[in-house]
Amino acid sequence: MNLVGVFGALITFALLIYFIFGRDQLKSLLLLDLLSGLRVTGKKLFEPKTTLHFPDEGESLPTSPRFKGMLALRRYENGQERCIACKLCEAVCPALAINIESHEHTDGTRRTTRFDIDAFKCINCGLCAEACPVDSIVCTDEMNYSFLRRGDNIMTKEQLLAIGDLYEDQIARNMEKDRA
Ligand code: SF4
Ligand code: SF4
Repeated sequence: MNLVGVFGALITFALLIYFIFGRDQLKSLLLLDLLSGLRVTGKKLFEPKTTLHFPDEGESLPTSPRFKGMLALRRYENGQERCIACKLCEAVCPALAINIESHEHTDGTRRTTRFDIDAFKCINCGLCAEACPVDSIVCTDEMNYSFLRRGDNIMTKEQLLAIGDLYEDQIARNMEKDRA
């Protein structure tokens, strides 16, 4: 059989498959989906890379002002804690990760005596930050953290305030961008 004969037989075979089993079966037989996938892969192979090697290139990771990283507690500029112990964050937390105890001062103000977040339970949903009426509890951009010892997962009020102090500039910038 010459080349024209082989070609004709293949066309006839393809038409038979098309009429008997339908278009999808013919596409599978001719590996058309695979070829179209390979065409996309081939095109992407020569385009500039959009992926970054984390954590080596973690510094340049683009984040949104609403990024939900490590939690922090903030202070006012005069150093006073923002938290008024309303416990809204504790009530709204779907993972029951927040534990607050509070004390009422003689002047009627209320402050926390204990503010713990169990980082193992926290799912970084950001609902606590949404609920807070005084922007006290917030999410930072920091996501590169881990806990190596049992017990370290309980982030205390002092630790959360220290994180807030450390990231205050970034937190304030993100809040401004988010409101814009
Ligand atoms: S981010 Fe979500 S899960 Fe974590 S403490 Fe806040 S409300 Fe709870
Ligand atoms: S962090 Fe905000 S929501 Fe939570 S107890 Fe303090 S003031 Fe209330």
